[in-house]
Amino acid sequence: MEIKKMFINGKWVDAISGQTRDIINPFNQEVIATVTEGNASDTKAAIAAARKAFDQGDWANAPATERGAIVRRIAELIERDKEELANLESLDTGKTVEESRVDMDDIAGVFRYYAELADKDGGEMIDSPIPNTVSKVVREPVGVCGQITPWNYPLLQASWKLAPALATGNTLIMKPSEITPLTTVKVFELMEEAGVPAGVANLVLGAGHTVGAELSENKNVELISFTGGIETGKKIMQAASVNVKKLALELGGKNPNIVFADADFETAIDQAMNAVFFHAGQICSAGTRLIIEEKVHDKFVAALVERVKNIKLGSGFDEDTQMGPLISREHLEKVENYVETGIREGATLVVGGQRPEDPALQNGFFYLPTIFTDCTSSMSIVQDEAFGPVITVEKFTTEEEAIKLANDSIYGLAGGVWTNDIAKAERCVAKMRMGTVWINDFNLYFPHAPWGGFKQSGIGRELGKLGLEEYTETKHILQNLKPEPINWF
Ligand code: NAD
Repeated sequence: MEIKKMFINGKWVDAISGQTRDIINPFNQEVIATVTEGNASDTKAAIAAARKAFDQGDWANAPATERGAIVRRIAELIERDKEELANLESLDTGKTVEESRVDMDDIAGVFRYYAELADKDGGEMIDSPIPNTVSKVVREPVGVCGQITPWNYPLLQASWKLAPALATGNTLIMKPSEITPLTTVKVFELMEEAGVPAGVANLVLGAGHTVGAELSENKNVELISFTGGIETGKKIMQAASVNVKKLALELGGKNPNIVFADADFETAIDQAMNAVFFHAGQICSAGTRLIIEEKVHDKFVAALVERVKNIKLGSGFDEDTQMGPLISREHLEKVENYVETGIREGATLVVGGQRPEDPALQNGFFYLPTIFTDCTSSMSIVQDEAFGPVITVEKFTTEEEAIKLANDSIYGLAGGVWTNDIAKAERCVAKMRMGTVWINDFNLYFPHAPWGGFKQSGIGRELGKLGLEEYTETKHILQNLKPEPINWF
């Protein structure tokens, strides 16, 4: 089997150590690829290449329209190779091909969006209060950027970082999750084809504690953009503090989904399922904390359980599959422990709570869609991310109580509220402490709007104009048109 290489300074290379890693299909545990396994030495080489490319200045100083054209070309190539990319993503993550196709459309959309924005910010003139001066503000690239992504949406998360970094003239080193690097490798091939110059975009494959740690602490990296778990985020903050690196952190979420009794019942149920069981709950914005008004609680849970029992688990390549496996054995065991904790804490398990018995699924990392009722904020299953197909249900009677429950979390990534009373929805939204709040929807997003978290869900924003600004430094330039001695000294 061909060994997938890293891309450093415009060349496809093996790791200096010669080590490799097998990539596993979570549906059947077969090896689907072998990739080279980099470490700190390879990372240093990639950082040196990115540093040289940035300092040499051709990319940073290229007309923004030229950079935009290359970013647009990447979008076109992703659209050309959409089927291949979608199949690779599904092989690597277990998600359905249908979902992966949607991901690829979204990813091309992200590159297109930032291609369009690349040449739109020509700076700003300031109305200077000092006579005979010209004052302007311009945005410049940050420099060398380290980018670290997770395994749940491998290429989507990479696109949120690659596209704005390239559009604004930075150079970069990308480290995908060691479990799911395949589509990122493929997109680096497409970036090479699109004409991204050597050294501008580098790819290092390998583990977090080697490659990721080096990116986080190396003094030649000026910004670290990370998407992943909160504990890893804290380690990266610590490492980055040594050189006061700029930080962009997209961490976890424990997202409330509030359902009022006056909501459209069938739609709220349908979307409550979608909010969690899509991609087997391995979504940072999954609506895992269902908070239901008492009046409708029992009826809602009963209807939900009936529908959840019918979710079809299987291969992402079967057309009727609705939910694939979890990403790895380790992650499956984590979800199992989480469910055991819920039972110990006194929550009522109403459906799921085990691996499926279907013989066809025994080689995959499958877990049944699971619902706990009688949950309270003091339970760790209500506070901690499961990152799997598990819903906790809490009950409320008043609007104030619903908001209090929703905000009772260290996280603040996203949340939803279901009601036909628009004034009530607006009152709730104004008090919900999250980066994204949906009214009568859950998980809808697009590249034009910013994405990120309040509280411990992160620092900064990706997507939208703010996602572009993350990759820029602001410079104020003041010119004196009539210089004269000050005569102070
Ligand atoms: P993770 O934190 O285990 O790993 C993420 C990345 O960090 C991987 O590439 C990993 O190799 C790397 N890493 C690990 N240790 C490191 C270290 N010491 N230094 C530098 N890098 C290191 O997360 P995961 O399990 O891959 O992904 C799941 C998590 O990601 C969940 O918590 C989820 O909520 C979060 N997530 C957040 C968003 C968002 O937009 N906020 C999106 C997707 C996923």
